[in-house]
Amino acid sequence: MYISRRDFLKFFISVSAVSSLTANAISVSALSDTLLSPLPNIDIGGIIRPPGALIEKAFRARCISCGVCVNVCHVMKYNSIAVVGIRDLRNFGTPYVKDMRDFPCALCMECPRHCPTGALQEIEKEKVAMGMALIDFGLCFGWNGDVCLSCSKACPMGARIFDFYHGLWGNQPYINENCVGCGLCVKYCPLGGSAVKVITRGQYEKVKTEYLIGFKNLLEMQAEDRYNIVYSRNLPEILARGRLIEREYR
Ligand code: SF4
Ligand code: SF4
Ligand code: SF4
Repeated sequence: MYISRRDFLKFFISVSAVSSLTANAISVSALSDTLLSPLPNIDIGGIIRPPGALIEKAFRARCISCGVCVNVCHVMKYNSIAVVGIRDLRNFGTPYVKDMRDFPCALCMECPRHCPTGALQEIEKEKVAMGMALIDFGLCFGWNGDVCLSCSKACPMGARIFDFYHGLWGNQPYINENCVGCGLCVKYCPLGGSAVKVITRGQYEKVKTEYLIGFKNLLEMQAEDRYNIVYSRNLPEILARGRLIEREYR
């Protein structure tokens, strides 16, 4: 049975309505700033290029903003590629994957095949390096009392990308550096707004140390501490986030 993101959120809201969790006391407006980003403590800027893109400087030198990749993606019915607008003059007119929540890259590899300048190169899917997907462990259902794993089921690259850590509630997912950055996991994560974010490889190198330290700390945490964090902080935040996203959909 297919359950849309909206149906899921409706269910989620109805659960939260009967919950006595302290989230009820949290002001949604006060939370909005911190909850809109899946990785609130990390700067996650950067432009995600279509698959097969040359390294950034070479890509910008080679791309002539012809829009062929945009059209090819549209014809393939994926609509993943948008064009950078006037607000970013350096990248103006160049293609990027704008919205992985709704339009991730399906890795059909048709855009590199048709790029007339070689700014996008035909490569094997396994060698694509659009970005790196990071899970927000404070928001992921799998790390907070539930069984989910929708991200790993959606991933087209399969077992080489996901590592699983057995925890109190079952298997908890971790995305390793084999990730190609297509964003399918972002789309299929059922958490409102997604608990996964894809960032550029360059950006990942900058935040990697902080992210890995956070992850190591999480693994070393005692069960009782973990339980307290999940039930007194993470779940209320997840519920509040669900309410915010539901309002976005109205
Ligand atoms: S590989 Fe396919 S889905 Fe991905 S951006 Fe290119 S045309 Fe679109
Ligand atoms: S983990 Fe996510 S972004 Fe990475 S390859 Fe799999 S689906 Fe794509
Ligand atoms: S789909 Fe989202 S909530 Fe589910 S395990 Fe993956 S990151 Fe966590």
